[in-house]
Amino acid sequence: MNTKVDRQAARTVPQMVTAGLNRCTDARAVVGELRPTTHLGQAIRCERMAALAEREARWWTVLERWTYLSQWEVPTVYGRAAIVAANTARDRARLYSDLATDWRKRAAGQPVCDVIGCGCGGTCGVAA
Ligand SMILES: [Zn+2]
Repeated sequence: MNTKVDRQAARTVPQMVTAGLNRCTDARAVVGELRPTTHLGQAIRCERMAALAEREARWWTVLERWTYLSQWEVPTVYGRAAIVAANTARDRARLYSDLATDWRKRAAGQPVCDVIGCGCGGTCGVAA
């Protein structure tokens, strides 16, 4: 085992994750400022938000693995927190993905209801 390299990893993985999460936050702010005026534009905006949320989830997973696999006696509660954060980001990614699907259907002139990601084709009775 190369102790010098391991100590470097102990410092760099959390820094790398922090930098990655910061880039996601910055990119989300840019996408969040977009105000699409078409259904297709809304779909594209939602797809970009979904991709950013998925990327954020992957960064949290990197931190989770580092926490549990590390040899630096990191309290496991940090790993649990990273799991919750990753799952929350994945939930947000799914929501944006469902929204994007609905916006694309609207852009194609297909009926949708007001339930995000329902997939009923406008037949479930919830007005759009
Ligand atoms: Zn529906």
